[in-house]
Amino acid sequence: MIQIYGAGIAGTYLYHLLSKNGYEVRIYDRRKEPDCRCAWGIVYREAKKLYAEIGLNFDDYVLLKPQYVVANGLWLRNRDIVIFDKKRLLSDLWVDLSAAENPELIVDATGVSRALLPPIREDRVLPTSQCIEEHEVEENIYIQMERTGYAWAFPLGDGRWHIGAGNVDKAKIPVFISKLREKYGFEEKDKTCQCSAKVRLLQPSKCLPFISKNVVGVGEAIGCVSGAGEGNVPSLVSAKILFECIAAGSLSEYESRVLKELEWVEIEQKFVDAMLKNNYISAIRLLPRIIAIENGRTVQHSIRDIRKLINI
Ligand SMILES: Cc1cc2nc3c(=O)[nH]c(=O)nc-3n(C[C@H](O)[C@H](O)[C@H](O)COP(=O)(O)OP(=O)(O)OC[C@H]3O[C@@H](n4cnc5c(N)ncnc54)[C@H](O)[C@@H]3O)c2cc1C
Repeated sequence: MIQIYGAGIAGTYLYHLLSKNGYEVRIYDRRKEPDCRCAWGIVYREAKKLYAEIGLNFDDYVLLKPQYVVANGLWLRNRDIVIFDKKRLLSDLWVDLSAAENPELIVDATGVSRALLPPIREDRVLPTSQCIEEHEVEENIYIQMERTGYAWAFPLGDGRWHIGAGNVDKAKIPVFISKLREKYGFEEKDKTCQCSAKVRLLQPSKCLPFISKNVVGVGEAIGCVSGAGEGNVPSLVSAKILFECIAAGSLSEYESRVLKELEWVEIEQKFVDAMLKNNYISAIRLLPRIIAIENGRTVQHSIRDIRKLINI
């Protein structure tokens, strides 16, 4: 019996991979319904391929594909980012939530909480604040970034927008959001909902161990979040690797496979690390690799664009 704790993006995906392949598995979440915070951006081709493996047609959940990602006023053509209805997708994947007694294997899919694995020494978790508002603005992704964080506006269709910001310094979040509002014309409006959250921005190699006794971690619990705060695809990928290791009886290879297959996440987090430490030389050295990774999947951009964006 395998028990998964955490029915977010990684936990639900792993649950369906395992149950589809005949494993005895249960899933439990401390929430009554899936989390709806704004984390609805994803790379379409990668999500489509991964979800097909559990028989889910990802197209049913795509809300829209913005033409541009506008970062600090720089218009970058969007390659493959779509906005999907994450809450509806997770709701459709939620099954009877329950916790088994004495499972052989426990999966920590509790995201930023990392509730079951040993705590991470020198963890780096950014506070965020977000809301939904209605605006008549052209449907692109708008970003206002600085060295220590960024504010965003993601279109959800029908004039609805996710607006929010994350920063190492929580007190700066409202300032970041104000700058975004001013730059792109999102005046303050009534909010349909509002919440705060946290996102782990730490390279996977600093989130070891991935396995402790009979507990194994997936997703954000083990640092599967890119330098841009993109955790959906990396979390799905880690869940798929875990499933393959369980199926092959090779759990001992899990840690090294995650570190190898998500090396791009590691590189991007090293860049974040360098920026936060004002280590611009290291940051610049990492740029060509990051451009090569992201040019093919998220937005079209050059080293010049990124240097302009981050002011180095
Ligand atoms: C504001 C914000 C915006 C983001 N935007 C994006 C985006 O646009 N695109 C993107 O790719 N990524 C985005 N991310 C990151 C992304 O949301 C996460 O990295 C991703 O959801 C991680 O998936 P997960 O399954 O590991 O964890 P989660 O999706 O966080 O799921 C963890 C689950 O575990 C449950 N849980 C927690 N503790 C316990 C416990 N003790 N027992 C039982 N259950 C528990 C929680 O209720 C939750 O349902 C964003 C993050 C934030 C905070």
